[in-house]
Amino acid sequence: MTTEPITIHSIINGEKIETENKLPRENPTHPDQIVGYAPINSKEETIQAIDAAYEAFKSWAWSDVDDRIARMKKAIQKIKDSTEEIAELLSREHGKALYDAHGEIAVSLMWMEFACDHVKNVVAPEEKEHDNGRTIITHDPIGVVSAITPWNYPISLSTIKIAPALLTGNTMVLKPSPFAPLAVSRVCEIISDEFPPGVLNLVHGEAEVGVELTSNEKVAKIAFTGGTKTAKSIMKAASETIKKMTLELGGNDAAIVLEDFDVNDERALRRMVISNFLTAGQICMIAKRVYVHRSIYDAFVEKYIEAANKWIRVGDPFHPEVTVGPVNNQNQVKYVQSLVSEAEKKGAKIVKLGTILNPELMDNGYFLQPTLVLGADYHDPIVVEEQFGPTVPILPFDDEEQVIKLHNESIYGLTSSVWGEVEHAIRVARRIEAGTTMINTAAIQGLDVRFPFGGVKQSGVGREYGEEGLKSYTETHVINIPKNLELPYIPE
Ligand code: NAD
Repeated sequence: MTTEPITIHSIINGEKIETENKLPRENPTHPDQIVGYAPINSKEETIQAIDAAYEAFKSWAWSDVDDRIARMKKAIQKIKDSTEEIAELLSREHGKALYDAHGEIAVSLMWMEFACDHVKNVVAPEEKEHDNGRTIITHDPIGVVSAITPWNYPISLSTIKIAPALLTGNTMVLKPSPFAPLAVSRVCEIISDEFPPGVLNLVHGEAEVGVELTSNEKVAKIAFTGGTKTAKSIMKAASETIKKMTLELGGNDAAIVLEDFDVNDERALRRMVISNFLTAGQICMIAKRVYVHRSIYDAFVEKYIEAANKWIRVGDPFHPEVTVGPVNNQNQVKYVQSLVSEAEKKGAKIVKLGTILNPELMDNGYFLQPTLVLGADYHDPIVVEEQFGPTVPILPFDDEEQVIKLHNESIYGLTSSVWGEVEHAIRVARRIEAGTTMINTAAIQGLDVRFPFGGVKQSGVGREYGEEGLKSYTETHVINIPKNLELPYIPE
């Protein structure tokens, strides 16, 4: 593994472009080390990328779906062949433990394969004979898609968009986050090389690039994953030209632990801990607040701490026993620290969790020891805000009506989980406002790429994954061939 800084390029119309302005990406484990440099594209370069996608769409839209699948399968194979290198790069620039980087790539590949296997089903024209003649319904590509992605799962949240968009005949300009731009660029290079110039373009940068991608009149659809606040400005920018949109946004996902949950079930407690602290808590669908029935609250907290102390091992992402690496960036460290210290000032008890395997790294790296927050108020910021880091509040509840109300009063509704006797948990799940609710597991452990994923309320618009996720890159076109060609009530 090289530790020399690498330089990545943008891709415009099949050409790898060098830019003068470059952004260094530091290693969160050793912030004084630069992992690589990403370009900072200008507005003009962003327009060139959109123009290239716009021109490429004219023929790509009519390309044969078998040809698209064959190209995507070649790219999938090449990503598989490069998994080790990509996972190491991702781990170094992001801070997630190496096993976790491998997991992200595995989920990405699983989805890309599903998309290849199901796209024909989704785009197949439907033809119906009926009492008034014939109707043909086609599922056509939309046009140029701007994809904008966050730093926490840069590869899976990019391939979740690239695979369905390209397979259904759209072209794309993708902009990753400057906080993890390197490994995803490698993946985009591999995919782009298998497709005609202009079909997949890659640009880098911050707001200037983002604003062009979301307002340019040649862009037909925006596929965005990121914060709810950013989504609000994107919706405004896109409103001038009424773009189609899929928005996957923030969440404040709750885990509800019912009175019939078995506090001695060590595997279930391990799953709960993982659902709070995987990727150092930086996952949109991580369980960010845990409500436990008061009758088992004390026993649950005791057993939870035991399970957390066993599973959480903090340190260098490349250490084979580490389960939790550093946080991705300094802003996130400060934000999470501020939420925890505010809760502590208000009287909450902070319990440090896990073992520190590399104490020598803690002071310089962006590390935060995972914490549990006990005794917070139901409406404290640590409970109602998306903390997006390694801390979680556990709160007691008295009855189902109360906990359902506490759950549903959030402005968010991405995922949630209910833990306990399965049929009881399903009954509670049915009353919860969320895009996905998992029973006796949570977060990525309960994710299934074959089914739609997305949020309700301010957690998003539309769905990714599943056939619904593929269909969201198509427009329905109805061709009517009626037998009755004229309306009887219109006078001669
Ligand atoms: P962010 O909103 O700050 O940034 C996301 C992307 O938007 C980045 O590429 C950024 O450069 C770009 N951007 C920033 N300003 C822009 C503008 N004005 N116009 C266009 N693009 C702009 O989010 P983040 O900090 O990278 O990611 C964390 C957030 O993402 C959390 O809220 C998390 O919950 C959410 N998220 C949601 C999902 C989901 O599937 N629902 C998945 C992962 C992350």
